[in-house]
Amino acid sequence: MLRQFAAYYRPYRGLFWLDFGCAVASGLLELAFPLAVRGFIDHLLPRGDLALTVLAGGALLLVYLLNAGLMAVVTYWGHKLGIGIETDMRARAFDHLQRLSWRWYDKQRTGHLVARVTRDLEEIGEVAHHGPEDLFIAVMTFAGAFALMAAIHPTLALLTLAIVPATVALVTVYGGRMTDTWRTIFGRLGDFNVRLEEAVGGIRVVQSFANEDHERALFARDNARYRAAKLDAYRTMAVSTSLNYVAMRGIQVVVLVAGAWFVLDGSLSTGGFVGFVLLAGVFVQPLQKIAAVIETYPKGIAGFRRYLELLATEPDIADAPHARPAPPLSGAVRFEGVGFGYDPARPVLRDLTLDVRPGETLALVGPSGAGKTTALALLPRFYEPAAGRITVDGIDLRDLTLDSLRRQIGIVSQDVFLFGGTLRENIAYGRLDATEAEIRASADLARLGPLIDSLPLGLDTIVGERGVTLSGGQKQRVAIARVFLRNPPILILDEATSALDTETEREIQAALDRLAEGRTTLIIAHRLATVRHADRIAVLEGGRLAEIGNHAELAARGGLYARLAAA
Ligand code: ADP
Ligand code: MG
Repeated sequence: MLRQFAAYYRPYRGLFWLDFGCAVASGLLELAFPLAVRGFIDHLLPRGDLALTVLAGGALLLVYLLNAGLMAVVTYWGHKLGIGIETDMRARAFDHLQRLSWRWYDKQRTGHLVARVTRDLEEIGEVAHHGPEDLFIAVMTFAGAFALMAAIHPTLALLTLAIVPATVALVTVYGGRMTDTWRTIFGRLGDFNVRLEEAVGGIRVVQSFANEDHERALFARDNARYRAAKLDAYRTMAVSTSLNYVAMRGIQVVVLVAGAWFVLDGSLSTGGFVGFVLLAGVFVQPLQKIAAVIETYPKGIAGFRRYLELLATEPDIADAPHARPAPPLSGAVRFEGVGFGYDPARPVLRDLTLDVRPGETLALVGPSGAGKTTALALLPRFYEPAAGRITVDGIDLRDLTLDSLRRQIGIVSQDVFLFGGTLRENIAYGRLDATEAEIRASADLARLGPLIDSLPLGLDTIVGERGVTLSGGQKQRVAIARVFLRNPPILILDEATSALDTETEREIQAALDRLAEGRTTLIIAHRLATVRHADRIAVLEGGRLAEIGNHAELAARGGLYARLAAA
């Protein structure tokens, strides 16, 4: 884990050494004060030279000014290093999330993922910056203070070493325990986010059912669980802080009593005694930092572990090493003995073979749950077939890069997802570099023209979160406009009109017919009337192809299609 963490410093080598060097120098300069006090008492005072004393004071002040400068450097550039590493990790986590497949997302809850990219990484920057520096300074101050103390009085210095095992024990026992505790806290925080996300995202459903009390109770439960985890952390902190305090003050008492003893037997001067006591104060400073070690670091480490877990989930659908960009496709689509199940034990598609000619409109019909949507989700490789293969223009999908394949497939489905911005942004999502004229043209083709003209802000109208300010039919048209803009050779229409009233459906149907012109179109329709003009109709039942042919053929056959059409 340490090696993985260290890799993140690579782009910041310069900053790291600047910060590290200044922090170390600053730590060393802290040793100046005890030495100065000893000098004042043992050498300056007996001389009675006031001018020299003022001069020495001025020199000490200069040292502190220098140190102040060093501290400013550490505070700004050190945190710059930390936040740099933190943002790099966030970017990497986000990038990873973009590449994970639908199969993985099917099992996730948004709130947890949000927590992983936000809260989990919040302490990383602090740890990245203070971690190595604190460790090194602790060792340096331990060593430096010890060397100086040993120079003053070796026996007394040896006594102070008793603190070392106490420190090591505290850090290992409580640091480890706190890391586990923070892991739990982050998990609970994720649960909490999930609850919040769903209660707020689903507020319209919550209020429709007047289930606010129910939601409140669920939230209260998660809130209590979170509090319990945090209290657990504070309990550990309470014990470790107190133990730490006892160790620190204990050593000072030892130094005080033993030092007095040595002054009395004449082996230690008064100045040496005072200087030693002050040095011992510096010596235990790393111990004071233990509070940070036990609070901040375990947070950072727990977050980093969770981050590594996320990165360790390999996208199960990705470009094969030999994958090449798809050429412009003519749109021949072939399913060859395709088998698939979301759960391998429960197949959804069995030995499905379909041959779609370029430019053909093929409708998929069949009972609900027959696997129609699933079959079409395999074409853009949202899921991977377990058996058989799918080709476009004779090329196995796995031989093409995902990007180049998906860019040539347009999808309009029943539930349209709109982003919270403007109509223009939502349409332009079809092709991000589209010009104003192109956006307007595709909006017109999708029959959005009258709507846009009726809005005071036109294309600049904000559609609200997920497009809440638009009707179902309007959202559907935005989805169609996106695909017009993308202009792909292959089109997937999944019950694109099924949620609409008859009037709107006719309007949208006209736009869809226009969209389908000259493209290979795979269409799933709830109502058979919408697909009777399709070139061919494939009837799916239980994940198998039950029959295929045009409307007249299938109707005459008296099979499943005829029965569905009659019903
Ligand atoms: P259709 O579109 O023909 O109504 P689907 O392809 O949506 O049918 O669903 C086929 C089967 O797969 C159903 O039993 C459904 O419950 C299941 N299913 C669909 N999507 C998922 C998913 N993401 N995870 C697990 N099972 C799914
Ligand atoms: Mg479906």
